[in-house]
Amino acid sequence: VDATIPLRFEGTLVRDLEGLYAPAEALELAEPRVALLDASLARDLGWDAAWLAGPAGARVLAGQDVAPGSTPVALAYAGHQFGNPVPRLGDGRALLLGEVVDGDGHRRDVHLKGSGRTVFSRGGDGRAALGPMLREHVVSTAMHALGIPTTRSLAVVATGDQVLRQDGPHPGGILVRVAASHLRVGTFEYAARLRDPDVLPRLADYAIARHHAHAADAERPALALFEAVRDAQARLVAQWLHVGFVHGVMNTDNVAISGETIDYGPCAFLDVFDPRTVFSSIDEQGRYAYQHQAPAMQWNLARFAETLVPLVDDDQATAVGLLTEALGGFSDVFDRAWRDGLRAKLALDGDPAADVAIGEELLQLLHEQGADYTGTFRGLAGVLRGEPQAAREQVLDRDALDAWAARWLALLDERGVDRATAADRLDRINPRFIPRNHRVEAALQAAEAGDLEPVRELVDVVSRPFDEQPGRESYAGPGPNERYVTYCGT
Ligand code: AMP
Ligand code: MG
Ligand code: MG
Repeated sequence: VDATIPLRFEGTLVRDLEGLYAPAEALELAEPRVALLDASLARDLGWDAAWLAGPAGARVLAGQDVAPGSTPVALAYAGHQFGNPVPRLGDGRALLLGEVVDGDGHRRDVHLKGSGRTVFSRGGDGRAALGPMLREHVVSTAMHALGIPTTRSLAVVATGDQVLRQDGPHPGGILVRVAASHLRVGTFEYAARLRDPDVLPRLADYAIARHHAHAADAERPALALFEAVRDAQARLVAQWLHVGFVHGVMNTDNVAISGETIDYGPCAFLDVFDPRTVFSSIDEQGRYAYQHQAPAMQWNLARFAETLVPLVDDDQATAVGLLTEALGGFSDVFDRAWRDGLRAKLALDGDPAADVAIGEELLQLLHEQGADYTGTFRGLAGVLRGEPQAAREQVLDRDALDAWAARWLALLDERGVDRATAADRLDRINPRFIPRNHRVEAALQAAEAGDLEPVRELVDVVSRPFDEQPGRESYAGPGPNERYVTYCGT
């Protein structure tokens, strides 16, 4: 520990959750350098961005020097991967440095990904390539800017050495992730299987205190915890769908108890609207396709519920009954969030059934026309302003879009909605910019070749998704129409 480091950590998890982590140390690096830094996130943490970006900051962000209060550990967790139980996963290439209480009083984890082997590494090298870490930085920055709960990336550090992957050597990277916490459904699965019966209740108490404090006052705190996580995750998935996001690996170890989007791997955003879309090369069955994300989350929550049975009631049948009923409530919360989000994307707040019906007609039209999802929704504000070109350009059959738009405008007029006001509102809801797959790929390729400028510009673009940003049209649309495939395990 180096007392001259101007950062201070706390360690409530290490203090309270013994049995759910193992001590760990970052691998030694000769010359780590900060490739990207989110200066505004640094300020939120009360940290000096300029210091972090320099050589001494890079050493802390790469785990080389340990700041006061930090006890680096690798977290233990289990999980269901593509439906199959795996009793022991854990941070095989990651370290939790500790916690920081931010300017708003929120406790946040600071965690490194790609920092070397741990006791959980199994056959893996504990490393990460720079490209995928930059990708998580870009996509999580975009998600945050879109107003979607997510872990953040404080920085990406270039390790200065190479990691070996199937297709050859790549520059190494470390992601410095900031999260409400790294507790996952998989953490509960791990705790539930331990012989020590004391760990699971401690974990539940800790998760309640840190994330869902109101549950502590409920008649059955563990049931209230379940309902809080259920609601947060149902709303989260609805928000994903509204921006066309496909997570790609919704295994239970990638579902955060906090309700934040976590573990960006082979994720991507839809261009053309096709609910069956899958990007990940390993998701051969389409288990985590765009349209399966809500049922996949409910399935994951069923695994969470199973771990809580002994905490909900001494009588197993009673506990199972209560949790089953609570699990069934997922659909209501999700449906409402999905419908309300769709209505908001259309500036509709009248009769919900009528609003949703016209929204579903638009989605059907987009699907039939192979229209760009983000581009068409963004174009709707133009329709309201009497400038329908941008929306019309997205579809082949312009008459079909015009006919739909006429009905939509009639509905808005019937309700007395002011078109100019509604258009401005839509421009804060329907983004102009998402991380387009072709732009992400091009930026990562340039970064691998040593040029960080394109990825920096991309981060800048996606961190202001609702601004028009004149001159950046080339970031707004889809790339050439090939099938986009993403890879994990990198
Ligand atoms: P992920 O696909 O990133 O969610 O990781 C699934 C599991 O594999 C986690 O337990 C990771 O820690 C582990 N893992 C992924 N990549 C590596 C690696 N290169 N070395 C060691 N463990 C890894
Ligand atoms: Mg994971
Ligand atoms: Mg991971």
